[in-house]
Amino acid sequence: MVTAVPRKPKTFHIVTYGCQMNDNDSEIMAGILQARGMTPVRDETDADLVIVNTCVVREGAEERAVGRLASMAAAKRQRPEMIIAVAGCMAQKDGERILERLPMADLVVGTRDLFKIGALVDTVATTGERIVSIQDVDKPVFLDAHPVQRKSGLKALVTVMYGCNNFCSFCIVPKTRGREVSRPLREVVGEVRQLADQGYREVMLLGQNVNSYRHGGADFADLLAAVNEVPGIERIRFITSHPKDCSDRLISAMRSLEKVCENIHLPVQAGSNRVLRRMKRFYTREHYLDLLARLREQVPGVTVTTDIIVGFPDETDADFEETYSLVETARWDSAFMFMYSPRAGTKAAEWIDSIPLELKKHRLQRCIGRQEQISGEINAGYVGQTMEVLVESTSRRSDQELMGRTRGDKCVIFPGPASLVGSLVQVRVTASHPHTLFGQLAVPVAVAAA
Ligand code: SF4
Repeated sequence: MVTAVPRKPKTFHIVTYGCQMNDNDSEIMAGILQARGMTPVRDETDADLVIVNTCVVREGAEERAVGRLASMAAAKRQRPEMIIAVAGCMAQKDGERILERLPMADLVVGTRDLFKIGALVDTVATTGERIVSIQDVDKPVFLDAHPVQRKSGLKALVTVMYGCNNFCSFCIVPKTRGREVSRPLREVVGEVRQLADQGYREVMLLGQNVNSYRHGGADFADLLAAVNEVPGIERIRFITSHPKDCSDRLISAMRSLEKVCENIHLPVQAGSNRVLRRMKRFYTREHYLDLLARLREQVPGVTVTTDIIVGFPDETDADFEETYSLVETARWDSAFMFMYSPRAGTKAAEWIDSIPLELKKHRLQRCIGRQEQISGEINAGYVGQTMEVLVESTSRRSDQELMGRTRGDKCVIFPGPASLVGSLVQVRVTASHPHTLFGQLAVPVAVAAA
């Protein structure tokens, strides 16, 4: 199908849904477009090209992306030369169907073709054709280095592996991102070196299943050790780790490598072994609790967060009570909790979504309520302690206040001058909230800024 021939776009705006991997993909697309001379704009109404980078992990994220695209229809009628691109997981999953469903869309770019965004936009601009560019995710992919336009000048997202081999029964990711492919260790370290030269102080190593990183003979612990050697980088984080791949070598690396932060996101998903089996998670509640105990014993001060799904098909009251009791026993620092929603193409979507919505909501509220209390109790335990904080920005509430994060990824708000943004400072915690700590600089500003 051919639309009105648009003019060559000069400005672009990217809307991103979903996880940090999508954030990094958007940064890569921005880098590619800027390298071709295009300028990013804050407001989509000023953009010649709008890219919506989509997520399909949960129904809500997909609906929000579709709603956002639908809301662009009027703007497209007024400015038919504007190019609208749908990128990422929804593009990969639905392909051609997006053009039928969303007539305002000009370009559909799958997860494996994001790196072609510049050339694809040029083709749409010069021919006026609507294009779908999707590759089979099961084909091998070669991950080249690309220009990246990062949002932060302090903390950098670095994708170290793509895809996932696990096929959890509720998850669509292996179908939209394909099988695991790791980047060469030398290439990742080279990128981190460049980031350090540009003034970045923290890197977040990303992968759908980051702790199953493997390239040549190197595993994820080797990668952490190599990144730890890069001068100028002060902190290393990583996400997301699968409990079954959390090896003793990784725990030992977290303990011994001084730049690796004492923080891990370790999604458990459910507390009942029967549900975990149906989810195809390949660990038991007992294995998870043992892992948690070893982490807490061997990595002093480690903070642990998780994901939980309630209302999985056929989840009985007894199954749910096991999840609730795991919230009680595991005492995570915080947890992302969701109601199950079927994702077409997954194994679980073949089963009846048997738990009524009201019951799902009730179970979710119980878990969230208890987790809030636990997060509050854990954070209250920091009051009176002095903690190292990397200052990220002024706070949203006031430009007299700063926002930073501890090594355990706790958000801390404290009074101080904007000149400290980018510094590592010591903050004495004076008050707490389930999601935030509040404090005072532990040393005078003149010393802290030195
Ligand atoms: S480990 Fe499971 S939940 Fe995570 S991306 Fe892979 S299939 Fe999805």
